[in-house]
Amino acid sequence: MTDLSLSGPVPEVAEDGVWLACIECGETYAPFEEPTYECDACGSLLEVRYDEYHDFDSVAGEGVWRYAPALPVDDGVTIEEGNTPLYEAPSIEAAVDVADLRIKHEGMNPTGSFKDRGMTVGVRVAERIGVGRLACASTGNTSAALSAYGARANKETLVLLPEGNVAAGKLAQASLHGATMLEVEGNFDDCLDIVSELADRGEVYLLNSLNPFRLEGQKTIGLEIIEQFRDQTGSLPDRIVLPVGNAGNTAALHKAFRELVAAGAIEEAEVPTLTGVQAAGAAPMVEAIENGWDSVTRWEDVETRATAIRIGEPVNAPKAIPAIRQTGGTAVAVEDEEITAAQRELAQDGIGVEPASAASVAGLRKLREAGEITADEQVVCLTTGHLLKDPDAAAEAGNDPTTVPNDVDAVLDAAGD
Ligand SMILES: *Cc1c(COP(=O)(O)O)cnc(C)c1O
Ligand SMILES: [Zn+2]
Repeated sequence: MTDLSLSGPVPEVAEDGVWLACIECGETYAPFEEPTYECDACGSLLEVRYDEYHDFDSVAGEGVWRYAPALPVDDGVTIEEGNTPLYEAPSIEAAVDVADLRIKHEGMNPTGSFKDRGMTVGVRVAERIGVGRLACASTGNTSAALSAYGARANKETLVLLPEGNVAAGKLAQASLHGATMLEVEGNFDDCLDIVSELADRGEVYLLNSLNPFRLEGQKTIGLEIIEQFRDQTGSLPDRIVLPVGNAGNTAALHKAFRELVAAGAIEEAEVPTLTGVQAAGAAPMVEAIENGWDSVTRWEDVETRATAIRIGEPVNAPKAIPAIRQTGGTAVAVEDEEITAAQRELAQDGIGVEPASAASVAGLRKLREAGEITADEQVVCLTTGHLLKDPDAAAEAGNDPTTVPNDVDAVLDAAGD
């Protein structure tokens, strides 16, 4: 039985009031002694636990580190991540017909995706444990973030990428920040199998979202949403709609809200409904939710233009499935055409996102049309990465330029009146 209750005595292995606990069997582990990603006893996922849960009063630094008292280390390897905008999106709000719509734009992080929030914590923990080489499998953004934070920490980084399926902006970032980049003749899930094996052999420190410390950093997305939404509207959002790849954010947001409940900062009934969106060509989580399964079945063949969520086996499913169920949420699949249409709609409100991010808005539209989301709801859509991450997708979704002679009248002519 998955236990996400956060209660129980502080175990002997705790250090600074922090430990790791298995979400299935409850086994506990020392947090900073050696790399630990999964439960030795039963193989399930680990979660960071604390002797004390904090509400918003415990302000420390800025951005992610504003929430330092709720994080496993006091400070991070930082490039000033977090504190991203919560935008209004008036035309989408009207077109989709919900009471309130805000866009939490995680593309506004230093490397252009929410992955930075996990890395500022994860790379600091890597330093504390004293590991050598950092590594990840990545559809692109994890590698961009890890290369930047690894560089900042002066650590060697190795990134494994699915050959031919990483967007140009992300490749450029990993390349310039100096990661060792290996393109594997396989998909993301194959890359993760390999890097997990390397981590098991002690060759690398794994910074995929299987790493429970990364999710602690990503938790701050949920904390910021609660604070910003309350500041802007005076209430809390009913629902958060987010794209799902490895389902790390789904798990991390749920943990943020469980901890706020444990700290007495919000009521259980106020926890927003978590609603996951996948691309139709890579939707194992939607399949699991729709069928009432407790685990996902790996999809061997995945395909979507939204390469950031082109994932066949979401590793955080054991956390994310309860997150969706316990908050009364659901999961929905959208076609690539719907994703592109949503990317254009966001652009019309001045918000530039990569395709995977637009999946959240496409999912909102679909569930609203189906009546599963109602007109009285206050909704936040999470947009996970910046438009410039995938310039090819943006150019394809947008207008083509017209070539004109080097002449004022010709320009005016072509521009129209
Ligand atoms: C990593 C990523 C996702 C997937 O997030 P998960 O937490 O793995 O579900 C979605 N969108 C973008 C842009 C990403 O980089
Ligand atoms: Zn266990």
